[in-house]
Amino acid sequence: MEPIDPTPATSNITVRRGEPLVVVKDINKHYGELHVLKGINATVNRGEVVVVIGPSGSGKSTLCRAINRLETIDDGVITIDGVKLPAEGRALATLRADVGMVFQAFNLFAHKTVLENVTLGPIKVRGLSKADAEKKAMALLERVGVANQAKKMPAQLSGGQQQRVAIARALAMEPKLILLDEPTSALDPEMINEVLEVMVDLANDGMTMIVVTHEMGFARKAADRVIFMAEGEIVEETTPEEFFTNPQSTRAKDFLSKIL
Ligand code: ADP
Ligand code: MG
Repeated sequence: MEPIDPTPATSNITVRRGEPLVVVKDINKHYGELHVLKGINATVNRGEVVVVIGPSGSGKSTLCRAINRLETIDDGVITIDGVKLPAEGRALATLRADVGMVFQAFNLFAHKTVLENVTLGPIKVRGLSKADAEKKAMALLERVGVANQAKKMPAQLSGGQQQRVAIARALAMEPKLILLDEPTSALDPEMINEVLEVMVDLANDGMTMIVVTHEMGFARKAADRVIFMAEGEIVEETTPEEFFTNPQSTRAKDFLSKIL
């Protein structure tokens, strides 16, 4: 892997904890004619929790997917822990394993038990023995409050339980960073809090997190920083308090007037 310039992209926010873990520099992405990411610059420091918020179609998911290399970029550079994202091969698999991902739809393996969902990655990618992987998985399922569901199939669980399993599955890989893309937006309202509580717990534990969410309560409780995106650009980047009480741009004001 080629060495890269570790200087973070310029950001108007002071470094709070740790060193830059994710550095996104001048990235652009098109889908055909559509310019989805327009010269995005962002830095996420180790231990930091960044909430990404913005209207539907603004490029939030594309940014997350680019950071996990599920999506290619046209130009620019993304580095994770100082290593430039490789295009393919073994190095990509390793880097991807360092980034846990939780999606909106509960994307558990439907034909595997809850426990198998959590042990599969550690056994296949991290080389753990089955016994070690199961021990670790049970501890994680305990942590997210679903240990008693370990033998069940995903479809037998509620949406909130499935999403907590998805978080446990991501954690089982011991990722350097977790990306959560609207993890609660497909949930019934009464299940949102149980998932948010797990996320707050992770944040308090020092996990580096990028969370796409419109849950203001989570942002206020757990986020160090809010990034507001609109039409493929980062329009505002500030503290949750400042963003929700004193948005600067017309686009942020418009957006907040619709969701609050
Ligand atoms: P958000 O997550 O903020 O709602 P997305 O990143 O999903 O936004 O999408 C940004 C824009 O890119 C939208 O206009 C969307 O329709 C478009 N888009 C997303 N994925 C694809 C794709 N695979 N092919 C073509 N257009 C896409
Ligand atoms: Mg999205």
